[in-house]
Amino acid sequence: MTHTAPPYIAYSSNSIQHAAQFQKLPAIERHAVEIVSKVLPFKANSYVIEELIDWDNFKSDPMFTLIFPQREMLSDDHFSRMEQLVKHNASAQAIAHEVQKIRMELNPHPSAQLRNIPQIDGQPLPGVQHKYRETVLFFPSQGQTCHAYCTFCFRWPQFVGMSDIKFATREIQTFVEYLKAHKEVTDVLFTGGDPMIMKTSILENYIDALLKDDLSHIRTIRIGTKALSYWPYRFTHDPDADDLRRLFERVVKSGRNLFIMAHFNHYRELQPKAQRDATRAILDTGAQIRTQSPVLKHINDDPNVWATMWREQVDQNMIPYYMFVERDTGPKQFFEIPLEHAWNIFREAYQRVSGICRTVRGPVLSATPGKVQVLGVADLAGERVFTLRFLQGRNPDWVARPFFAKHDQGATWLDQLTPAFGDEKFFYQNELNSILGGDSDIDDSISFE
Ligand code: SF4
Repeated sequence: MTHTAPPYIAYSSNSIQHAAQFQKLPAIERHAVEIVSKVLPFKANSYVIEELIDWDNFKSDPMFTLIFPQREMLSDDHFSRMEQLVKHNASAQAIAHEVQKIRMELNPHPSAQLRNIPQIDGQPLPGVQHKYRETVLFFPSQGQTCHAYCTFCFRWPQFVGMSDIKFATREIQTFVEYLKAHKEVTDVLFTGGDPMIMKTSILENYIDALLKDDLSHIRTIRIGTKALSYWPYRFTHDPDADDLRRLFERVVKSGRNLFIMAHFNHYRELQPKAQRDATRAILDTGAQIRTQSPVLKHINDDPNVWATMWREQVDQNMIPYYMFVERDTGPKQFFEIPLEHAWNIFREAYQRVSGICRTVRGPVLSATPGKVQVLGVADLAGERVFTLRFLQGRNPDWVARPFFAKHDQGATWLDQLTPAFGDEKFFYQNELNSILGGDSDIDDSISFE
């Protein structure tokens, strides 16, 4: 490896105004970014700007839409409320007040995730989520940002200072005590934000704590990241990239599995040489890479995009893993796709690839009761229905049981579906209600995984 990282320029919504590529955009586009980014977070870097975005065709470019806020991501009402304040030079305080009001109208799910916070000795462990028996999510404090922000991100409250709903912890020792007491846990997922924003020395502290003999039941460490797309030099050229790969090797040598849960939304992210080099460097450590993305209007709502992406991932020795459904938060109306359409995209893409790519599961909703896969639309007993199954459930006994919902062409999320065949409730509903203490309409939307 060479050890010279290309210059890393971070762009905020203010500094992007000075980037040469951005200045060439029509004024109306720059204005939209200025207004929308007051509400929804914006962040980019030099790699994203120079390598991923096709500036000559920005209007139809999925990477531009993925990173730059668009006018249509806010409702007319929200956009004009912000625009009026800016136009009339409102005070910073007045703008901040309005921004907060609009954000709260965008369903940031302020209390939802609290349901998954585990306890030790009666004390909650903030920054940790234990939703499924085998898998615990860990949100390291220093990993609660990303190299760039995706405009669809359901974790946007993490980035805008709504600290009452922010998950993060430095309490690795308390977490270790929790894991010692929970031998059923086999997998720990480091998530954020993006844990690969952290320096290796910090990540190392967290990971080394899990490699101790008394945690031998932890078999798999996963790291959820978009750094392979947004800053692949993290694995090859950054000053501590060598140390990072040594850390990965150490995990593998300890006998644990190390999975990089890589987030790619479009095959374009898989084309730069820097990304290919980084992928090879990770695989050379013995770590494996699994890939995942939501299906999104304007970005990847095309079977050809998915088939091409999965083929390319397999060519690079990655394992396609999940196609998710976009969640009900932030600018959902801009990206959302009816479940039936998402299933058709999945089905057509799945049909176009060889069996080796068919490790992928989708479309999957990470919803309140668990991860639910839409298996398809069928006509059964004279009724048109969705066939569904759990890939993960709050009760492991729900997993892999087919169940049925009335067909609804416009439904975009599980809570819009009703049971088929005259049933009053889905089979899991009573148990879910008792697990959640009767509060069944919450959506634990923090878990991407
Ligand atoms: S958490 Fe993931 S989806 Fe959200 S901005 Fe960061 S990289 Fe994108």
